[in-house]
Amino acid sequence: MPLLERFRDREIVNRIVKGIKEHAPKKKVKFCHVCGTHEITISKNGLRDILPDNIEIFAGPGCPVCITPVKEIEEAIWLAENGITLTSFGDMVRVPGINKSLLEIKSEGGDVRIVYSVRDAVRLAEKRPDLEVVFFAIGFETTVPTTALAILNEAPNNFSLLSSHRLIPPAMELMLYLQSMGIDVQIDGFIAPGHVATIIGLRPYNRFPEIYGIPTVIAGFEPVDVIFAIFMLLKQMNQKRPGVDNEYCRVVKPDGNPRALKVMNEVYKVTDGDWRGIGRIPGSALGIREKYVRYDAREKYDISIKVEESKALPPNCICHFIIVGAAYPPECPLYMKSCNPAHPVGPCMVSREGTCNIWSKYRNKKGLSKETKNKILL
Ligand code: SF4
Repeated sequence: MPLLERFRDREIVNRIVKGIKEHAPKKKVKFCHVCGTHEITISKNGLRDILPDNIEIFAGPGCPVCITPVKEIEEAIWLAENGITLTSFGDMVRVPGINKSLLEIKSEGGDVRIVYSVRDAVRLAEKRPDLEVVFFAIGFETTVPTTALAILNEAPNNFSLLSSHRLIPPAMELMLYLQSMGIDVQIDGFIAPGHVATIIGLRPYNRFPEIYGIPTVIAGFEPVDVIFAIFMLLKQMNQKRPGVDNEYCRVVKPDGNPRALKVMNEVYKVTDGDWRGIGRIPGSALGIREKYVRYDAREKYDISIKVEESKALPPNCICHFIIVGAAYPPECPLYMKSCNPAHPVGPCMVSREGTCNIWSKYRNKKGLSKETKNKILL
């Protein structure tokens, strides 16, 4: 099927692309998105192929499974090995810890169950009071209100959370820090995930234009949303007036979802958090407040796992560079050789939202620098 026939309204897309070409600066510009769903939209619809050569879009840390730190996966494994019923999403149980994944622990007899939501885990705890049920709670601001609600709705005493939630804006700020340190990351604008903004609103993104002068656009997930977000970023750049624009205004309200934020803040407090292969990012994680400590699996089961940071990723896996956009999947020596969707080695290939997994399906060719193209054979 010709590329543009996949678009809901290809005439609109064509007109926006024409506008992008007219407004594109002569220099190379690089826009960063931080969402696995955005990467799927971009790769699946070949958006990189219809942009001018000097506009590059790359993926930042937008896959919750990929950035879940190995220490917290080891905590989940420890629970499953010690008689606890461990529940989590399908992708999460396949991600390798230091030696094994939760799925392998299940094959060895551990009680690991895949659920579609935290509600499934609560129901299991209600039906089976003889089990101790833990939900391994991963995800960004989009999933946090649901796990907070499970607690506020008084889940049974045999239910608790292993909280591994992370926050998106601090990770975006880390990328700007990497850029300022001269690490191979160039960011001329952010495409921010619409679903996160649905919860937190626009205000947490203001610091990017105000402090760093970086144009930011909140975008939806249709091809036309992403393409229009790029046009909006270029407009901000050309007018030299960086700000936060809301392309996804049909869904995102400036203040987000106050009820969801209230629920989140009632149950969780902001803490520092580790990100797999990256390290600790200040103010990027959510811990359960003292008031709800009985639902905190770390306290309830007195977990004390220590992990050497050097073991965070398998040998030769470059997920830490992929996650911050400092490399593209084909730059990894294992990509589509020993690491592929059937036999994933690193977390970015395991998860359907991981950049390596997405690229393996859609084989991106454009959006690469000349040096990168020379280095790899696609
Ligand atoms: Fe890691 Fe596999 Fe991606 Fe290489 S291709 S960075 S091993 S997930």
